[in-house]
Amino acid sequence: MDKLAYFDSSHDFPEEIAMAAGFTPYKILGDVKTPNDPADQYLQNFICPAARSFMTDALAHSGEWAGIVLAHGCDTTHRFYDIWKLHVKTPFLHFLNVPMNYERKSAAKFFKTEMKLLITRLEAKFGVKITDAKLKDAIKTSNEIKGKLQKLAAMRGEKDITNREYLELCVKSVQLPKADLLALLDKKLKEWAARPAFPDGKKKILLTGSDVTYPEWMDTLEEANLRVVRDDLSIGERCFATLIPDKADPLDAIIEYKAAMPRPATKNPPDPRLDFLLKELKDSDITTVVSQNLKFCEPYAFDSVYTMKALKAKGYKAIHLEREFSPTIDRQAVNRLEAFMEIGEKA
Ligand code: SF4
Repeated sequence: MDKLAYFDSSHDFPEEIAMAAGFTPYKILGDVKTPNDPADQYLQNFICPAARSFMTDALAHSGEWAGIVLAHGCDTTHRFYDIWKLHVKTPFLHFLNVPMNYERKSAAKFFKTEMKLLITRLEAKFGVKITDAKLKDAIKTSNEIKGKLQKLAAMRGEKDITNREYLELCVKSVQLPKADLLALLDKKLKEWAARPAFPDGKKKILLTGSDVTYPEWMDTLEEANLRVVRDDLSIGERCFATLIPDKADPLDAIIEYKAAMPRPATKNPPDPRLDFLLKELKDSDITTVVSQNLKFCEPYAFDSVYTMKALKAKGYKAIHLEREFSPTIDRQAVNRLEAFMEIGEKA
């Protein structure tokens, strides 16, 4: 059991700590094709279906993992630790608290204390020593992966790379052992470089909103002839938009990295998230934004009002959708997106 599973609702868990402890960090992403009945015994049905799927996954597979870390993500999943503690069988369960507002002076100190507590508990439970040298090695590996993912993600706007292919690769980047992942990324770099040019008839978009955790939803966008060439999702650019800086203290480096990554709607205030979107749109040739929230995902539903208004005020074509948690193509969404694109083209 070399996997240390984790659950966070953005990109809050510092994978490097698991790596320095000798584990493969494994992000729990659920399975959209498996019904949520097991988790629904313990969770209310107004909890977002992705989070219920994560618990269904944990109930079925926790025996394959050395332990589970739940990092504080969104408010919906804030109390998951207490629920999982009662119902998910695992030899190690830890709640990692993370800052909600990185602008506060106390955030760095708070996060460092929390990470040190996680390190102490991992060391005691698994008899390992998580040294600064091991953390720095893990950071080096993470940065190598981020660099390759940056190059692959940039190819989306130049080459014929489907939405599903991109998301499948991003899912692997948070679940595979890192050595296997590096080999796969090298293979994909060669393979994608040889692809035909970006296809005529597809429109380039930026995708934002709730994290898309299953590649099947990307087919809905493909069906509407939309190609995601930029995003700010956690199974996506949020993980690799920035590198972890080189600092004497590796925990300080991780804190600086987490504060600088594209901000999710689960954090306060909302301005840094919008600032990132506006900057990336300005630096690219993309004029269209598709925003979406998974049903019952309140952080992104709330934020969408503010974000959409600001994007439209700047002249971007933007649409917000609510989506179901389903592996089948959403025909209604395809129709809406096609109509949105058509109206926009004529306008
Ligand atoms: S989809 Fe939204 S509500 Fe569900 S876990 Fe993610 S941030 Fe939380």
